[in-house]
Amino acid sequence: MENVFKAEPKHADFSWASIGDIKEGRENLGEDMPVLVYRLLQYSMNHVLVTEMGQEQADHVFRAAGELVGHEYARNALDLTLGMDPFLAQLQASLRSLRIGILRMEMLDDRDGSFVLTVGEDLDCSGLPITNEVVCVYDEGFIAGIFEEYTGKPYKVREVDCWASGARVCRFKGVQGG
Ligand SMILES: [Zn+2]
Repeated sequence: MENVFKAEPKHADFSWASIGDIKEGRENLGEDMPVLVYRLLQYSMNHVLVTEMGQEQADHVFRAAGELVGHEYARNALDLTLGMDPFLAQLQASLRSLRIGILRMEMLDDRDGSFVLTVGEDLDCSGLPITNEVVCVYDEGFIAGIFEEYTGKPYKVREVDCWASGARVCRFKGVQGG
């Protein structure tokens, strides 16, 4: 007999499994689609969120979503048992193969866990009009989520250079702690 008290999975409950079986569902169209489509979703969503709740709250939403994905991605797509150097090599290869961007670690302090990394050809912003803003808040959360999952410690990641701020790569600084 079915247990009526067992919680059914809901569409709003995000996990790696929420993505579903893309291969099966898109037999003819396949698993890839243009970056244009990703950005249309992302930047229309950003516009609506900023309009309805203001920049700060909208950034919070994108950052929180990125962090959620960072955790799920790290748990499901990365080997978290590796030491730091092979872990970073794996992360770099994975981000490249998913065509998210080209990762370079510029600085990593193994005493306090802080880092500076760049993402070239970033999925979110490369080629955007220059507005003198850093816009990759989703990536801030995504990178924090990955490092949180790997180290087991909270991270705060902020973008300091962005294509939209006039740089050619996105540069992120990460520090341990809330
Ligand atoms: Zn950026």
